[in-house]
Amino acid sequence: MKQSHLFTKTRKEAPSDEEAKNAQLLIRAGFIHKELAGVYSLLPLGKRVYDNICTVIREEMNTIGGVELHLSALQESATYEQSGRWSDEVVDVWFKTHLKNDTELGLGFTHEEPLTRAMTNHISSYRDLPAYPYQIQTKFRNETRAKSGIMRGREFVMKDLYSFSKDQSEHDHFYEQSKTAYMNVYKRLGLGDKTYVTFASGGSFAKYSHEFQTIADIGEDTIYVHAEKGIAINEEVYTDEVLRDLGVTKEELTKQKAVEVGNIFSLGTKFSEAIGLYFTDKEGNKQPVIMGSYGIGPTRVMGLIAELLSDEHGLVWSDQIAPFKVHLISINQDQKATELYDQLTSQGISALFDDRDVRPGQKFADSDLIGIPHRVVISDKSLDAGGLEYKARTNIDSEIISREQIISKLTNR
Ligand code: ATP
Ligand code: MG
Repeated sequence: MKQSHLFTKTRKEAPSDEEAKNAQLLIRAGFIHKELAGVYSLLPLGKRVYDNICTVIREEMNTIGGVELHLSALQESATYEQSGRWSDEVVDVWFKTHLKNDTELGLGFTHEEPLTRAMTNHISSYRDLPAYPYQIQTKFRNETRAKSGIMRGREFVMKDLYSFSKDQSEHDHFYEQSKTAYMNVYKRLGLGDKTYVTFASGGSFAKYSHEFQTIADIGEDTIYVHAEKGIAINEEVYTDEVLRDLGVTKEELTKQKAVEVGNIFSLGTKFSEAIGLYFTDKEGNKQPVIMGSYGIGPTRVMGLIAELLSDEHGLVWSDQIAPFKVHLISINQDQKATELYDQLTSQGISALFDDRDVRPGQKFADSDLIGIPHRVVISDKSLDAGGLEYKARTNIDSEIISREQIISKLTNR
């Protein structure tokens, strides 16, 4: 993309009412727009990072049999009344609204109920199971504290997968597979070495649920990490019984602040029984479907990565999720730069080409703020030195390299 086409502006200051570092940086660099507290829009650069994160999540969900769909945000009350979750006393984050005839509707904060109901049209026999539908869709939650930027939105995006299984062992098998798929997601996003499968309270159908918690000072959760075993325990369930169950001692654990980047939950037959999702087993008996739910917040993950990787100059993205692989900056060498830009794009290497008529100092400052992992400058100086000036965003020093070298450096990254 030519930067002259990118209409977003960088800014020196974040809005004065924005407390979270992730939102401050993302707003200053033009990745997001703040609509109101906890409600943000994705601008072109932000949309590209978000899409890259979603691609990783999609690939891992598809690998374990996930099938993507997209459910409506507007929800009617009936199914939630069946499960007992329509009441504002039970669920305190509902956004509710009315049709013109006064019928009450809600904006989905999760989708167990409507999906379970929809599945009654498609599941009737053991032959129809298992099924693993998922979506990457907007959720609405009237969160009281919305001070963490895009890490805690009132409107945010969730990847939510639901498993529908015919027996407990089929459920357990998928549940374990999902843990591996989740860890693959975090590894590919660069969070693998800081993210722990964390034992949390399980609700009525399983002793534990599992959260995926990434160590970070800004975290709202406290966890006890067993680094060697690669597991952790959420403070909320930290009891002698859990320690016994996991075969660990207090002395082996370290207390850490962490951000919940995902959550998987065994639901048993809670929703299938309430809403009426039954199947006929091999023996001809009617059975409720066994369910699980599996969430990841792509926008929370994006905010967390922005916080964790950034430095004093601005954002820093990994190759995997950067809005563009390379930032190509022309200093009075537009023709040569255009040739390189065309070559990069024709080879499938995404480039942001700073062809704007602004001072070099501004180009460099913007480049640091936007945080594209590789930077290439074409100037009289670089050409005199024999080529292009290359610098990785995380390096202080630059080097002179040739066109072929930069292409081979960026291919397959
Ligand atoms: P939390 O404990 O942080 O409030 P939760 O346990 O309510 O989250 P789930 O309902 O399990 O979260 O949602 C699944 C995932 O969606 C979470 O692990 C998180 O990554 C993401 N998520 C949840 N709430 C938000 C939010 N308000 N803004 C952004 N992402 C969110
Ligand atoms: Mg939670």
